[in-house]
Order: sequence, then structure tokens, then C-alpha cells
Amino acid sequence: MNKKILLVEDEKTLSKALKFNLEKEGFCVEVAFDGEEALSAMSREEPDLVILDLMLPKIDGYEVCRSIRRDSDVPIIMLTARDEDIDKILGLELGADDYMTKPFNARELLARIKAILRRTVPQTAAGKKIIKIGDLQIDIIKHKVTIKGREVALTSKEYTLLLFLASNRGKVYSREQLLEEIWGEDYSGDVRTVDVHVRHLREKIEEFPADPGLILTVWGTGYKFRED
Ligand code: CA
Repeated sequence: MNKKILLVEDEKTLSKALKFNLEKEGFCVEVAFDGEEALSAMSREEPDLVILDLMLPKIDGYEVCRSIRRDSDVPIIMLTARDEDIDKILGLELGADDYMTKPFNARELLARIKAILRRTVPQTAAGKKIIKIGDLQIDIIKHKVTIKGREVALTSKEYTLLLFLASNRGKVYSREQLLEEIWGEDYSGDVRTVDVHVRHLREKIEEFPADPGLILTVWGTGYKFRED
């Protein structure tokens, strides 16, 4: 069945062009021109992915995103102006999966959409249901992360990244490799995305985020999860 995309964009020329390009790729596209329409389309259409402009009439993209995240894990790609706060967009506050800065080309957006839709849960140690490393516990079945028994709220990308690193302890990954593993091989965003997620993760799971003991920086190379 064709994947359904909800496109929320009030600039008519842009939304028309995007709809055309997405449909040409075989997607089924529903367009909403403001935040209110977006939320009603969200419950009516149950899309597989949402492309969401930040600046929208009636209810803005921030509010729409928050509202969607209250009861759905649907992948969200935010369309932003140049100086938008990336931390906020990708962080827990909004929990978008990815963002594109305007102007962008349709091919790049398509690549990201495909990467997100193809994304799979990373390989973990076979049969393992719970990973325990010191005070950190990852419950793979429940997608629950706790530190000293206290639950930590993570975005889906933060969780996937943590699970991947913790499942491959001691192995060093470059930012590019992590982008490929977590965001998909066609992902063409910049490696800063990885750094932002690592920083957010450290703030949530490390006792001393500035002097991390779990997710370690390997200078000049990338990141690895502590070995023992
Ligand atoms: Ca707009």
C-alpha cells in the first residue's frame, strides 16, 4: 500500500510543488494549509509521516508538533527558517525526527523521507530484553530507559541512538556511521544532528554531562559507549 504523507504548509506554491513531487514518487499526499487543518487531518488520515512547516496560520508548527507527539510517534520532518532552534526542534520539547531548512530541494527532502520510512530498529544482542550497564537500564521490549530506577524520557531518535551504542559497547563509530545507522543511508543532513542528539542524551543519562562516563567522545573519530 502507498505510504501516506500529511504535508502541512501554508505557502500554496511550495505545497503544490511538494505534493506533485511526492505523488510522482508514489506517495499518497494530504495537504493542510494551517495548524487547525493539520490536527484534524492528523486524526482523520493517520499518516505514515508528517512534513510540518513551523510558521503556520492559526496554530503554529511548534504547537502542532507538540500536540501530535502527545499521542503519536509518527515521524515528523520540520520545515524551518534558517535560524530556528535545532535543539528545541529535535529535542524532547518537540521531538521531531528531522528538519529541513528552507530553501531546500525536493530531492533532498525525498531522500530523507525514504530514509525515515525505511528506518529499522538497530541490531541488538540476540534475545536480549534488558540491557544493564551500571545504573543505566534499557528495557528493549517496553522502550523504557531508567537511571537508578528513575525513568528517563527520551525522544525516539535519542532512544534508538542510545540502544545502538549500548548494544555495541566499546566500538567506535564516526558521526557519519551513526547518521547512516540511525537516520538511514540516504540521509543527507549534517553530522551536527548526531552531536545534538549525543549532547541531549548525555544531559539525560550522564551523572556529569560535561564529563561523560557512558557515551564517550573519541577525539578525531566519533563516539563509543563505555566498555565495562
Ligand atoms: Ca509558512
